[in-house]
Amino acid sequence: MTTIFQKIIEREIPAEILYEDEICISIKDIEPQAPFHALIIPKKLITRIGVAEETDQLTIGHLMLTAKKIASEQNLDEGFRIVINNGPNGGETVPHLHIHLLGGRKLKWPPG
Ligand code: AMP
Repeated sequence: MTTIFQKIIEREIPAEILYEDEICISIKDIEPQAPFHALIIPKKLITRIGVAEETDQLTIGHLMLTAKKIASEQNLDEGFRIVINNGPNGGETVPHLHIHLLGGRKLKWPPG
């Protein structure tokens, strides 16, 4: 099944692209939950973190470091949050692994 993120990666549907390299793409979230809300998505389809394999280690590490790089570019110096939703109870709606990067306001904890 082709996910909406695969379609964005293939340029079949538009998105506001913040960053792209051979391993991942970062886009602005269409329904932002904070003043800054981006997604960092691997080009390789990993359905969710719960099914990631040892061989995905470099890809997942790259997503985290890309999130850090984007946070720095966006001047989120006061702090930011990285979130991965996994499965129905975790709030996952798109079955293609992605990291949420949120910032630009004081974020509450626990998230609920
Ligand atoms: P999750 O609920 O963790 O699976 O996150 C999916 C995220 O993708 C949500 O925050 C949505 O707002 C976002 N989203 C869905 N469709 C698009 C789209 N076409 N462009 C950008 N973000 C999207």
